[in-house]
Amino acid sequence: MQKTAKPPLRPGIGAHSNKSLLMSLRPDFSPCRAVTAASPVFSYSEIMKPEQKNLLSRRQLLAGLGLTASALTGAGLLSEIDFDSLMYDPKKKHSDSDLLVPLFYSKGYNISAFGLEKLHPFDGSKYQKIYNAIKKSGLRNAEDFARPHEMTTEQLMVVHTAEYLSSLGNGTVLSKILEVGPLRVVPAALIDWRILKPMRLAAGGTLETCRAAVKHGLAINVGGGYHHADYDEGGGFCVYCDGPIAIKILCKEGLIKRALIVDTDAHQGNGFANVARDESALFVLDFFDESIYPWPKVREDWSVAFPAKTDGHTYLANLKRILPEAIEKFKPDFIFYNAGSDVLASDPLSTFLLRVEDMNERDAFVVETARRNSIALAMVLAGGYGPESARAHTQSIELILRRFDGQTS
Ligand SMILES: [Zn+2]
Repeated sequence: MQKTAKPPLRPGIGAHSNKSLLMSLRPDFSPCRAVTAASPVFSYSEIMKPEQKNLLSRRQLLAGLGLTASALTGAGLLSEIDFDSLMYDPKKKHSDSDLLVPLFYSKGYNISAFGLEKLHPFDGSKYQKIYNAIKKSGLRNAEDFARPHEMTTEQLMVVHTAEYLSSLGNGTVLSKILEVGPLRVVPAALIDWRILKPMRLAAGGTLETCRAAVKHGLAINVGGGYHHADYDEGGGFCVYCDGPIAIKILCKEGLIKRALIVDTDAHQGNGFANVARDESALFVLDFFDESIYPWPKVREDWSVAFPAKTDGHTYLANLKRILPEAIEKFKPDFIFYNAGSDVLASDPLSTFLLRVEDMNERDAFVVETARRNSIALAMVLAGGYGPESARAHTQSIELILRRFDGQTS
């Protein structure tokens, strides 16, 4: 990976893998066109307008016909929905008319550890809430979400040491990472099943989201973003260092040359930063609350450390000034966007004072800036522990889908 390499331009959003079912139901269905680098830049006020909605969602289409996949199955018109066929396959050929932003999700992302997870502010069912809300919006059907594969041990070891991975079977080690003391007494097999497996699945979702972003320009994982996980140490509810693992794999495969992690989770992403420091073509731009975990802060390529109780206006003004400068400085051909919702004023684990609208504007700005510069962007959700977290993520994703699903260039 050479620091002098000029990033190649990326195509606009392209095909999505999960359309085969719908296309088989409605071969004449023609999803919206992709946005390209030549698309006009949008403003936050513009994307809030109802007329900016997608031309016609497939959910609405099927509803209009009185058809759903499950109804067809029940009526025997469709013998069986093969959900395995919906797994993301980057080698699969796609139709040029199939142009929705890829979303990755599995119900396996959600964490339930016999109620012990409730001892931490983390909402183990947050991802399910976001998934349900996006479906309810009419922007996606269940079949539209790509189901990722679990990240393999070989992939995890692109960053993690074998000793660290084997130590995760120890309840004491894991209880420290997850900040839930009673996990010490839970058998390793149960911990692996109820906590680690969901995280490996979400980490796999991050990897496949990154692949889809390279292919289509933009993709979103409804989970992931474990930015406190280091080579041989976890922390802050982060076990697997999903972002740098995915980036290193894509670099090794020659799919990307220079990657920028844009981290807007309220906490400094110390794990990602520690890994990125050893990589010549992986850079970190991190916006965080300097008054909260982790301690001590670590050295990063570009730290934007806000004082306690920073409001949305100040936050956004800095983001809008600095992100374009960072893109100019690091010249990435790929952005990994860690879009934490713990920046919200309602979040118990940070002092930031952003409103939901501020966070939505933040996410829209980052995605729009990447696309305007023809840089592929993979978005993951990262942290968020307050009562507005799921709603804020949902609104951000919906705004992005309405902007980039089929807007004409
Ligand atoms: Zn956080």
